Amino acid sequence: MTDSDLNQTLLRAYINSANDGIFVLCDEMKFHVANPLLESWLGESEINLTEHKCRRPITDFIGNEENRQLFVRHFEMMQAGQSVRFECYIDPAGAAARWVEISLNPVKLDAGDMFIGVARDISEKKKSEEMLWRQSNFDTLTGFANRQMFQNRLEQEIKKAHRASQSMALMVLDLDRFSEVNDTLGHDAGDLLLKQAGQRLSTCVRAVDSVARLGGDEFAVVLGELDEVDCVERVAQIILRKFAEPFHLDGQVVYLSTSIGVTFYPGDANRFDELLKNADQAMYAAKHQGRNRCSYFAPYMQEAVQARVRMVNDLRLALGTLTDSFRLVYQPIVNLATGGIHKAEALIRWQHPTRNLINPAEFIPIAEDTEMILEIGDWVFHDAARQIARWRTSHHAAFQVSINVSPVQMHSASNMHNWFDYLQTLQLPGQSIVMEITEGLLLNVGSGVTERLHAFHKAGIEVSLDDFGTGYSSLSYFKKFNINNIKIDQSFVCNLKPNSNDMVLCEAMIAMAHKLGMKVIAEGVETPEQRDLLIVAGCDYAQGYLYSRPVPAEEFEGLLDRQFR
Ligand code: C2E
Ligand code: CA
Ligand code: CA
Repeated sequence: MTDSDLNQTLLRAYINSANDGIFVLCDEMKFHVANPLLESWLGESEINLTEHKCRRPITDFIGNEENRQLFVRHFEMMQAGQSVRFECYIDPAGAAARWVEISLNPVKLDAGDMFIGVARDISEKKKSEEMLWRQSNFDTLTGFANRQMFQNRLEQEIKKAHRASQSMALMVLDLDRFSEVNDTLGHDAGDLLLKQAGQRLSTCVRAVDSVARLGGDEFAVVLGELDEVDCVERVAQIILRKFAEPFHLDGQVVYLSTSIGVTFYPGDANRFDELLKNADQAMYAAKHQGRNRCSYFAPYMQEAVQARVRMVNDLRLALGTLTDSFRLVYQPIVNLATGGIHKAEALIRWQHPTRNLINPAEFIPIAEDTEMILEIGDWVFHDAARQIARWRTSHHAAFQVSINVSPVQMHSASNMHNWFDYLQTLQLPGQSIVMEITEGLLLNVGSGVTERLHAFHKAGIEVSLDDFGTGYSSLSYFKKFNINNIKIDQSFVCNLKPNSNDMVLCEAMIAMAHKLGMKVIAEGVETPEQRDLLIVAGCDYAQGYLYSRPVPAEEFEGLLDRQFR
């Protein structure tokens, strides 16, 4: 055997045992050589591939048009003298489909050009890439597009709508009270519910409308190519009806609803993030209006959000200078039997640097949401306590001031205990102060709230139930907690007439309170008639514009010596 023969044999053996498909193409992409591995991939015998008479171009075996063209393009680039490498999907008639990475190199020979090719199987790599892509673009639980994918699709839809000068709607849905299902029936039931909710949602929209799960129990739908905006409302109503049907979760029947927020491109916004923000805001508005409904984004929502952000910032600044920013005004609580004033309610006002006095209704809810109420409430307590100490010396030894304590304060393990120390420092007994709390607080008391109410009681501090009659009034509170007074809400007082419904209710509340050993304060008393009816009904105290608006402490002192008869 000559050296050259030996080399030939070795080369042949190498090619035949290689883990890659190895081939040589001549002109017109026809096979000149193909190794057994490549033959098996293409589902053809060597004879059929390379026999001179029946040589066929490699493109015959690729199996799909798109990849055939891909191959031809690269072949042409290579003919121009370049080496090329590219990924190609082959799906031959006689064998399994696979992804291959092909490299092609030209070889110049006297007899003409030949092209050496190597094909490497990359199906596994492609599979894991595909899995990664699915994982990063689709929600594993429901199989719907995730937020990432949704953003891509929405951006595509925006472009499409822009080109066609059409409108498009973005709908965001949040299941109402989903967390209750999760908490009471467990996470498996919660997962099942999310899957079913997604499926239900997709049956309510057209196949072209993409549904996505944005996270948690929040879903989104893009309604593209809208000719008439009305159809969005129709879809929303269909969804609401569909969600009203019971869900069956492994034998459990669950009733649920959903809140929907809608915004339009290009009417409301042009960009993905803005549209999503708008739809979210509209959805929260739907929740706010009582859930199980659809609400549309409106510019005023945007303004309201901005005003709120400004107020949060301003409030935060105000915390730095509590004494300059806030002040307490006092409203007398008049003893209906004697007409004397030995009690007052402290009410907060905010002296905003650029606006006028701001009423608590405007900023207390925000202070509660941001927990700034903890610091503010602490300041209220200390400022009111100092005032009581002065009036106890100057006016009446038994003078009492009530302060409003927010549920957020009662739920927080904050520094309420140093309040007791402060009363001692001022040599004030607990009886000098009354805490006004609301019924809502008592609806779900944790151990902390019970403990704090108990501590008040132990310290001799009275507790009044504010806005009584407007919430979930329940007699069981009175058995469980030591409540000293109820304050009948203004809404009962303002329409008080002899023999009216409100009159009957007031009488009942007063009788009940007295039976349980509590005193009654009527709020919002504006007229002598209201006062007289309350006296007849046996009410103990009255508070309202009839006697005085809430006024600064100096002005309040002028009222102290008056007798209101
Ligand atoms: P509230 O505790 O029910 O206070 C009574 C509200 O009714 C006060 O409004 C008072 O000015 C008003 N009012 C009194 N008499 C009459 C009347 O004859 N007619 C009418 N129409 N209204 C009357 P204000 O001061 O604006 O306070 C509103 C609410 O803000 C309070 O309701 C209370 O819930 C809260 N609040 C006030 N100060 C504080 C505070 O220091 N801390 C906390 N957490 N909340 C406070
Ligand atoms: Ca109050
Ligand atoms: Ca009240």
